[in-house]
Amino acid sequence: MQQLELPSYLEQSDSVRDRFARLKARPVVLEVRKLTKTFESHGRTVTALENIDFQARQREFVCVIGPSGCGKSTLIRILAGLEAPTSGEMLLDGRRVLGPGPDRGMVFQGYTLFPWRTVKKNVMFGLEMAGRSRARAEEEARQWIDLVGLAKFENAYPNQLSGGMKQRVAIARALAKNPAVLLADEPTGRLEPAVRDDIFALFRELADDGVAIVVATHDLEAADRCDRIIYLQDGRIVSREESWLFAETT
Ligand code: ADP
Ligand code: MG
Repeated sequence: MQQLELPSYLEQSDSVRDRFARLKARPVVLEVRKLTKTFESHGRTVTALENIDFQARQREFVCVIGPSGCGKSTLIRILAGLEAPTSGEMLLDGRRVLGPGPDRGMVFQGYTLFPWRTVKKNVMFGLEMAGRSRARAEEEARQWIDLVGLAKFENAYPNQLSGGMKQRVAIARALAKNPAVLLADEPTGRLEPAVRDDIFALFRELADDGVAIVVATHDLEAADRCDRIIYLQDGRIVSREESWLFAETT
């Protein structure tokens, strides 16, 4: 029996081709070169990542997708500077980076808010740590909270919020560093599908606003909103696809 084959994504209409051309003309914000990470575990070497190469451009939303154990968390943790690669390097705006920095914001799967602080105080925390006066931190925190749609909840405590709202606060807190890149590891892993869509729509808007975003998820649905999908399997990139659903606004 003859098999039906999907057309290659390279067979694009002129308008799609134009969009990709515009995307590729944007400056590269994040570049990963030949990143490899091995772990020694119970006397054996586990290769969590092998020769990972990719770039994320300004206003680009990249999804790293793959089954459990393929290396997604390891990649995001290395990008965040929470873990060192075994070899390879990473550049932000052309500069080599090692370790964490305010140039990268991070959102985790679990809700990592301070339960004893209000939404506003959670977002203010990092700003005050970075040396802003209380008044200034409050003003900036309000703007970020507004941006993620939680203006009415700035005085609520985390336990009064739904999971989706908590993740929005975590996103606001990560954005408050004004990072060039926003990183997230399974940010919707614990959320209902409708809420998950909401969060991905928010990432889309933030990317359109200028932040480069790299999100790891095992959830294929997430890919609808992104510009580029990187499929990982056993620590290797097995395919890269550009989504033609991306950025209607490009
Ligand atoms: P994913 O997030 O895609 O589920 P991970 O990045 O967590 O994948 O893990 C990739 C591989 O690396 C897995 O085989 C995992 O067991 C291994 N691994 C991750 N962290 C460690 C560690 N600290 N020590 C040993 N092995 C690890
Ligand atoms: Mg993981």
